[in-house]
Amino acid sequence: MNSTNVENSGLSFAPVSAEIRTPGGDRVMAVDSDFLVGLTRPGGAVVPYELGYDWGREMYELLERESLKSFPNINTMRDLAMPDFQKLFSEHLSMLGWGTFELKKRDEFLFVDVHHSPLSDAVSAAPKKDMPSTSCDFYAGFLASIFSAVSGMNLASIEITCSCENYDWCSFLLDNETVVQQVRNLIGTNYQPLEAFQKIKAEMGNE
Ligand SMILES: [Zn+2]
Repeated sequence: MNSTNVENSGLSFAPVSAEIRTPGGDRVMAVDSDFLVGLTRPGGAVVPYELGYDWGREMYELLERESLKSFPNINTMRDLAMPDFQKLFSEHLSMLGWGTFELKKRDEFLFVDVHHSPLSDAVSAAPKKDMPSTSCDFYAGFLASIFSAVSGMNLASIEITCSCENYDWCSFLLDNETVVQQVRNLIGTNYQPLEAFQKIKAEMGNE
């Protein structure tokens, strides 16, 4: 196939078929910022979360194939040490233009920090009309799905702070469905995500 390399990205582009491929051969798609803004809120947070969740499942299978190639001693990606998984995952995502990821433990809670979320960038650049404080529910679903698959646990996720509200990066709580649902319920009663999380954290600390 005739294709040209896209400068500095490692991606190759075939002008006739309009296919863009990563160095590993995965097909990717170029989208504009309207598409990304659309992904942040088509009718509430539930739809992007579910889209992200489905994408995470697919990504898990793809990463599984990649990890078996790169680490011949493992039988499944779950055998990888967490730092190795994190590196593989973050490098793959950043190559696709989805930012970089870091798993962090803060006061007994597990967080995933996402740097350079294109969703947040698109929302920040778009005109503000009743935009909620966080914009990356798509990532929340995605992270819940991929970390559930790699840990074998049933995890949920919610964005607590977003770079679209002037934080340096987006930060997602990764926890079981009950805890995440408690945070969601408070947000439903007009708490900001960070306030909601802090309240739940304080209540759990008092138990
Ligand atoms: Zn965000």
